Amino acid sequence: MFGAALATGPLKWARERGLLDVALHQIRDYATDRHRQVDDTPYGGGQGMVMKPDPLVAAIEHAAVVDRPRRILLAPQGASFTQARAEALAREPSLLLVCGRYEGVDARVRAFVDDELSIGDYVLSGGEPAALCLIDAVARLLPEVVGSFDSVESDSFHSGLLDATYYTRPAEYRGWTVPEVLLSGNHAEIARHRRREQLRRTLERRPDLLESAALSSDDRRILRELESGAAPATPGRGRARGRRA
Ligand code: SAM
Repeated sequence: MFGAALATGPLKWARERGLLDVALHQIRDYATDRHRQVDDTPYGGGQGMVMKPDPLVAAIEHAAVVDRPRRILLAPQGASFTQARAEALAREPSLLLVCGRYEGVDARVRAFVDDELSIGDYVLSGGEPAALCLIDAVARLLPEVVGSFDSVESDSFHSGLLDATYYTRPAEYRGWTVPEVLLSGNHAEIARHRRREQLRRTLERRPDLLESAALSSDDRRILRELESGAAPATPGRGRARGRRA
């Protein structure tokens, strides 16, 4: 499950350059019985199986020996994994991600981890896809991993806003045109346009983010214009040559 994802894109690039190291541990290897059993029926009855504490904690303790990593249990009941958390985790020298399966892990395992994190309000069959999401989000924040750091800086949530809109060639596609300012070569106007697009998108799609975003007085003025619906054309946008997305 991890192989293809770790061998693609920025994760592959980072691993090849020694910027990221991912070691996988098979929990079954820490089971001591003949059948290498890692799950058992729940006390009190009920459907499904529960991951036993002994092989799981043995795996955690073995994996944690060298780097003293921050230990994270992936769990739908955990705190939300957000961009802010990804940024905090990217500053940790090492992370240990614990993936559950079945009905989840024996509740006592929680005493052996530092955090429980959820990637969203839905239930996956196992913690592996959640761990991959976390690895990807954290790895792209490591210095040098994403080619141009600019692209991380403007990413959605990084500055507390959604990202701007982007276009590439052709300048006109089926009657839809690119905002003229993006073709102008005027970098100051383009930067203003992109900031305005970030504010517009966030206001339209995630107004809740605006409550905690760091906003300048210019940003607040633009937001007032956008909210009143009386916003003049985006500075430098120019005349539309056709429809625009
Ligand atoms: N019965 C559990 C519950 O409802 O809280 C769900 C267990 S789930 C089927 C099995 C494993 O998938 C969990 O132990 C956890 O590691 C992982 N998992 C499922 N959804 C997740 C989510 N939203 N975020 C992080 N991990 C998740």
